[in-house]
Amino acid sequence: MLKINSLCWICYEPLYISSHHICSLCSNKLLSHPIMCFKCGLPHTSETSICSTCVHTPPLWQSLTAVTPYQPPLNQLIYRFKYRKQSQISQLLARLILLSWLKQRHLLGRVRPNQVISVPLHHNRKWRRGFNQADLLALWLSQVLGCQWQADTLIRNKATPFQARLSIDKRQENVKDAFYCQYNVAGQHIAIIDDVVTTGNTVKEICQLLINEGVASIQIWCICRTQ
Ligand SMILES: [Zn+2]
Ligand SMILES: [Zn+2]
Repeated sequence: MLKINSLCWICYEPLYISSHHICSLCSNKLLSHPIMCFKCGLPHTSETSICSTCVHTPPLWQSLTAVTPYQPPLNQLIYRFKYRKQSQISQLLARLILLSWLKQRHLLGRVRPNQVISVPLHHNRKWRRGFNQADLLALWLSQVLGCQWQADTLIRNKATPFQARLSIDKRQENVKDAFYCQYNVAGQHIAIIDDVVTTGNTVKEICQLLINEGVASIQIWCICRTQ
């Protein structure tokens, strides 16, 4: 019988393990990306794991895991995932987040989250797209890690314009009071899941909300981090 090998989604070479969706060469290349600050996820040049900005002004979260900055090939895969509705890419992207986190955990130690929370879309945007990309990532991660996830833990009650279209001083205002939390999350170790973290204002607003709800710790997990 003719056996058709699956191809790597990045280099199109045949795969040994088709369920991984990318080959080990591409995976290793992505995961060996030059050092990023473990707090904010932005590139930095010093020998330490934390950049000077985060030393002087620590973010509200304990750590940020991103696979790479927003650049090829992952920005192209994210585009296909979100805008061409190729939701099957979610498993590949979620697996890359998990591998990046495991690498960080091995190097620096990380609390294993007992709950993942996806950054919600406003219901109008979710309805237009047909799915929330962060939900698909969170679903896979929660199943693999054996931790809790409910799509409606956070509700986005404001239809906010895209952060990238706003000036820097408007971005925090844009997401102010945009979310509320439906369930008790007190004492939980949380990983907030999003596809791309840009200004950080959205996750900052969610962190403040979750801290007010009494969570034990917060990590941010995303595919790409950019400014
Ligand atoms: Zn490949
Ligand atoms: Zn930093």
